Amino acid sequence: MDKIISLCKRRGFVFLSSEIYGGFGSCYDFGPLGAEMKRNIKQLWWDEMTKKQDNIVGIDASILMSPKVWQASGHLTAGFADELVECRKCHKRFKLDELQKNICPECGGGLTKPKKFNLMMKTFVGPVEDDSSIAYLRPETCQGIYVNFLNVMNSMRLKPPFGIAQIGKAFRNEITPGNFIFRVREFEQMEMQWFSPPATLRKRSVAMRAGNPKDAKTPDDWFEYWKEQRMNWYIDLGIKKENLRAIEIPRKDRAHYAKRQIDIEYKFPFGWKEIEGVHNRGDYDLSNHTKHSKEELKYFNPDTKEKYTPYVIETSVGVGRSALAFLCEAYSEIKGGRTETTKSVKEVEAVLNLDKRLSPVKIAVFPLVKNKPDLVKKAKEVYQLLKFKFVCQYDEVGSIGRRYRRQDEIGTPFCLTIDFETLENDDLTVRDRITMKQQRIKVKDLKDFFQNKFRNDRG
Ligand code: ATP
Repeated sequence: MDKIISLCKRRGFVFLSSEIYGGFGSCYDFGPLGAEMKRNIKQLWWDEMTKKQDNIVGIDASILMSPKVWQASGHLTAGFADELVECRKCHKRFKLDELQKNICPECGGGLTKPKKFNLMMKTFVGPVEDDSSIAYLRPETCQGIYVNFLNVMNSMRLKPPFGIAQIGKAFRNEITPGNFIFRVREFEQMEMQWFSPPATLRKRSVAMRAGNPKDAKTPDDWFEYWKEQRMNWYIDLGIKKENLRAIEIPRKDRAHYAKRQIDIEYKFPFGWKEIEGVHNRGDYDLSNHTKHSKEELKYFNPDTKEKYTPYVIETSVGVGRSALAFLCEAYSEIKGGRTETTKSVKEVEAVLNLDKRLSPVKIAVFPLVKNKPDLVKKAKEVYQLLKFKFVCQYDEVGSIGRRYRRQDEIGTPFCLTIDFETLENDDLTVRDRITMKQQRIKVKDLKDFFQNKFRNDRG
């Protein structure tokens, strides 16, 4: 893990927030490469949900919402609180279930009785800071979807089953943040809420709409469907099957809204940990918002004249947490290096075997040497040609071997070298990170070549 953290900092993936002031509260900043990688993850998830799947639309709700939302959702009551004890001596707080003994693990002091501690971050809206102006930074993005249920369904003329997807920031005042970007207090979630008719309605719906197997699925069937879809997403993006598992969460450990819950876990260097939750939230959220807002969050089926509250299956994943899983999976070290790039057998070469769809830099462009103006000029032309379409890096510093190594370390799939032949034949060498194969491609064909390489292509 230390090696991955060091690579992240050294190569501009992740920095400590407010680092020059010593950092701040388990917050992290994504650097140039981290920001690109995160954008790739979000785009891939968005395409997967809104393009590959049927009947899913996206929204972008605001972070600040009426505090009534959090009353209705159960977050202001016991549902979103951890049981904590405080050390009477050093005043540090600990989760009750994480303590081995009944004394403070830091200083050995005595502990208070457990108290509920709400994980939501508070702020004030408007000029006066009093109880009436308290607002909360959302601890999950999905409530923005539930409160917009009618708006989205009506404006888009949707009928269940349909889904609403959203990517956005969420905030939790975590008691025990840690493991780098695994558990932080400010993070981004990618959530999809799937609204389908409850099972009790199924028979009637099936009869009414014979011939459409989609309508025959119960929320339990959809749960299985989404679990499968989400597991496959990670595998398709390069996570090995043996490093991924789905764990059924028993009732006593489930989130307060969940009728059924599985955690998709990844085998991090620090152990098996959740990267995504798939939840059957039943009608918990829509029913509670209906009760509190007095707006009927229901669907009226004009064919059967039935009105019902759809059941919700949720898929919920953190962008940073999944990025960390992809980075851990991709990180490898080659002892003695790759012959092409490393001279000394003692050297260890770090390679990020990222799926090229995730790679922050897609193409690196090198002139063979930097002291030949014609080569440099040509290499810069090639860089200009490609950089609007693909994220490119131009590098002329050091030997070609060193430059390959720098790109291998950040997972760049393709390196282009402009050499003396280029000036004569207008072609250049394309080196593939995975196969290490080199081929010559005409400059005029480069755009098509890479468009093909990056079109729906795996690996
Ligand atoms: P955990 O048990 O790890 O705290 P959770 O069960 O509270 O997670 P959910 O509420 O199901 O998490 O949130 C869904 C997803 O959001 C998680 O699988 C994770 O990817 C992400 N997530 C939740 N909390 C954090 C956090 N503090 N930092 C980073 N990502 C988070």
